[in-house]
Amino acid sequence: MYILVFTLVIFILPAIFTKKSITVSNLFDKKENQDNTQIAQTQENSDNSTKYEYTRFATLKLYHQDSNQIEEIPLEQYLYGVVSAEMPVSYHIEALKAQAIVARTYTLYQIINSSNKHENADICDKSTCCQAWISKDDRLAKWSEDERQSNWSKIEQAVNETYGKIITYNGEPIDAFFHANSGGKTESASNVWGGENLPYLQSVETSGEDGYSGYSTELTVSKDELKEKLKSTYPDIEINLQNEEEIKITEYTESGRVRTIKIGNTNVPATKLRSCLGLRSTFFNVVVNGESITFNVTGYGHGVGMSQTGADSLAKQGYGVEDIIKHFYTGVEIELI
Ligand SMILES: [Zn+2]
Repeated sequence: MYILVFTLVIFILPAIFTKKSITVSNLFDKKENQDNTQIAQTQENSDNSTKYEYTRFATLKLYHQDSNQIEEIPLEQYLYGVVSAEMPVSYHIEALKAQAIVARTYTLYQIINSSNKHENADICDKSTCCQAWISKDDRLAKWSEDERQSNWSKIEQAVNETYGKIITYNGEPIDAFFHANSGGKTESASNVWGGENLPYLQSVETSGEDGYSGYSTELTVSKDELKEKLKSTYPDIEINLQNEEEIKITEYTESGRVRTIKIGNTNVPATKLRSCLGLRSTFFNVVVNGESITFNVTGYGHGVGMSQTGADSLAKQGYGVEDIIKHFYTGVEIELI
């Protein structure tokens, strides 16, 4: 009797239930296959127009650099994490909406023009590589309890009210660069990275950015520190501060940023100097005082595309989200895809 009951419980009952669940999951598989076939047929029928079909980007593979994990995440949920990581929530809602459209455009551009930056993933969570992203839990933990709900609602509002909107130039999503503070004037892309001059990434002026903290910074280094920091890139560099013309800016870009600076016996591109010294931007002047050299820096970031403080400043002056975007990206359209 015991053996009989034992056999029933251990083998026969699970077999019955397992069989049932297999049958149900088979049904789902079939439904999914049918759906996939339909999607494939739709895509074949309307060739080009499906390139930017929103459903194609509904879910993306997000690579978490620190944990080395890939997470599948719905696009809008991903954008909540980007907007809240990239822009202070205290900024004007129209600026946050601009950030949401910029982030969505950047994401789609990465997927469409897949540069295979990340194996098996569309995008990562680091601002130095792709775009910054923070999970909702981590974000909420950084806010005081009484403002969590309203702050998060504001982030969701920025993303939801711009649902499906991206920035295009000649009908194609743009490479939507952005930075923290332009120092009053943005930079054209070719002046930072060389290569072709993208027509929508031109230098434009923005008022009100001097009101933000971090607009002006300075960095003072000794001659030896400067030499030490440049040595890995320029092993033969020599600096003799007895010579008055030893450190001298030799060329500016159209936006007024430094293009080239002569340091000792070497002509150094300002973008190189910026990365060697950790200067906030290439918008600087230089003062030599005895053995020390001071860089007075304006703005924060490469200066290309939308300035975040500029977006907030324009929003406070009454600009709407589309005006803000069209201010920073020349000749673009905002399309609902
Ligand atoms: Zn990345």
